[in-house]
Amino acid sequence: MSIKILPQTELEQQSNKKSAGHVVRTIPLLFYPAPNVLYAHRLERLQALAKESPFADYLQFCASIVAEQLELLKQDPIHVDLTKALTADTDLPPLSLANYPLNHDWQRYLEKLLASLPKMTDEIAKLIEELQKNSPEQYQEKALRLLNGEFDKVSSNESLFIWAALSLYYTQLASQIKGKAFAENSDKSWLCPVCNSLPVASTIHIGQNLGLRYLHCSLCESEWYVPRVKCTSCDNLQDIHYFSLDDERAATQAECCDHCHSYLKIFNQELAPHLDVIADDIATLMLDMKTEEEGFAKSGLNPFLFAQKLA
Ligand SMILES: [Zn+2]
Ligand SMILES: [Zn+2]
Repeated sequence: MSIKILPQTELEQQSNKKSAGHVVRTIPLLFYPAPNVLYAHRLERLQALAKESPFADYLQFCASIVAEQLELLKQDPIHVDLTKALTADTDLPPLSLANYPLNHDWQRYLEKLLASLPKMTDEIAKLIEELQKNSPEQYQEKALRLLNGEFDKVSSNESLFIWAALSLYYTQLASQIKGKAFAENSDKSWLCPVCNSLPVASTIHIGQNLGLRYLHCSLCESEWYVPRVKCTSCDNLQDIHYFSLDDERAATQAECCDHCHSYLKIFNQELAPHLDVIADDIATLMLDMKTEEEGFAKSGLNPFLFAQKLA
């Protein structure tokens, strides 16, 4: 799956038709991230959830990483010219490795992250110390393994820090893509059309896109439209059912597919308007445990839960 950037004329035609009272069938646009707003909101949400969660310590640890991502974004933002990546004559996602090879720019974020993170426990201090011994080539090799989905080739603890730096880099790239676009080609709709990574979970939107379901990317934090009641791992439309910890109207549910035995969480913004996909996914780990007990395997990736992905 890739993206199609709409030319300005097409957008104007659509809005003219709308204002003239015509009913226009438009494909829901994809959303690029706004990094400052995103990290500030995630930090606030993680801290709020930590106040009443059995996973409070872990949520606080994640908050310390997000606080650092936000700080680095302010101190050391990147600005890139993506014209070449966006005008290439290809169906590849614009920020996929095949279309936009990874250079070493992201590594400065990893180095700064490791240098400034609070050493909350001896274990974290030791892990950071070990990771700092890597050469730039080793960092690059591990990053490429992760971006290629070879999660079992890098230790899950190291992956968390490497992914946090990569994500800060890719989120800024995605935010700098100009023009409105939608996801094109429906095959592999479970992979991000911007960077080709796995989703964290999906959310049902409020506001302008009330009721529409979007998948949220684990790397570049873009969101793309996928119809509801459909498996986001194998495109199956039948035998989809939902688990939740509370009642049927719970804001967080596990969408399970009997065809491929996978599940992905679905969050409803209408019932929880302040949710953050990554923070709320961690805070609802009990739902993962319950769903996995029923024989389903998670099809998404939470950048703060690599260990769970490998389990
Ligand atoms: Zn992405
Ligand atoms: Zn499925």
